[in-house]
Amino acid sequence: MSSAQVAVVTGSNKGIGLAVVRALCRQFPGDVYLTSRDPGRGQAAVAQLQQEGLRPLFHQLDIDDLQSIRALRDFLKDKYGGLDVLVNNAGIAFKVHDTTPFAVQAEVTLKTNFFGTRNVCTELLPLVKPYGRVVNVSSMVSSSALRGCSQELQQKFRSDTITEEELVQLMAKFVEDTKRGVHQKEGWPNTAYGVSKIGVTVLSRIQARLLSEQRKGDHILLNACCPGWVRTDMAGPKATKSPEEGAETPVYLALLPSSADAPHGQFVSEKTVKPW
Ligand code: NAP
Repeated sequence: MSSAQVAVVTGSNKGIGLAVVRALCRQFPGDVYLTSRDPGRGQAAVAQLQQEGLRPLFHQLDIDDLQSIRALRDFLKDKYGGLDVLVNNAGIAFKVHDTTPFAVQAEVTLKTNFFGTRNVCTELLPLVKPYGRVVNVSSMVSSSALRGCSQELQQKFRSDTITEEELVQLMAKFVEDTKRGVHQKEGWPNTAYGVSKIGVTVLSRIQARLLSEQRKGDHILLNACCPGWVRTDMAGPKATKSPEEGAETPVYLALLPSSADAPHGQFVSEKTVKPW
């Protein structure tokens, strides 16, 4: 078994994830795994970083596929006995003018952004070693979508006692409500991406709370963040930040020093804790 530290970034064959891998290769004192659902796209990204003199490693990971997640889990367990840094970056968004029915957009978006990210956490969080760092890439859109929810939903999503099961039920209810055409009547905002990112931010708050309760003394820090508006295939060329600039906050959270005991369970933007 390797005694090296190890970092994993999901969805890192392009965009912000690739920039996070690039920064970690330069700053993280251990092995850095670029992961991609498509091995061809992943290997091409690894080759690109190698051209820059960096040495990322590669592992396949499709966060929509439980088998793929478990294969990575078993690999990390066998090779490293755990995991030091996890950046949950993989995500999708339909374009604003996409004509796919809203209920389909809701199901597909929630499947990857919320349920896929949650499955990665379920399988990999138990592997995270003491002083580990977990970063869930959410979005400022989660805050605006939260403000667009009914008072009742806002209260639930801001609760300090909401459980993961309750959150999962609410996310599933959103998808069902869109299928029945009643999501706005039921208090949801009209954004599937926004609701999926509410799920990511609230999931992070819950998981951080559980870590504090169940693994007290392990000094693991887990946070959600917004990278900003970043020029990637998702956000397009008009966005204000380069992928490297977008990577700054996730990388800051991934590399919080072992002496740090905060932030933890927070929503962080521009390296600053934001109110939820
Ligand atoms: P991007 O350029 O579209 O990259 C998304 C990455 O996620 C790609 O590598 C994609 O792989 C991967 N991915 C999608 N579904 C996956 C799955 N099921 N399994 C594994 N990987 C998957 O988008 P980005 O702008 O870099 O976004 C990265 C993260 O930042 C996302 O969570 C996004 O919501 C968040 N974010 C972005 C912005 C922004 O302005 N760009 C703002 C706020 C938050 P493929 O190449 O195979 O599709």
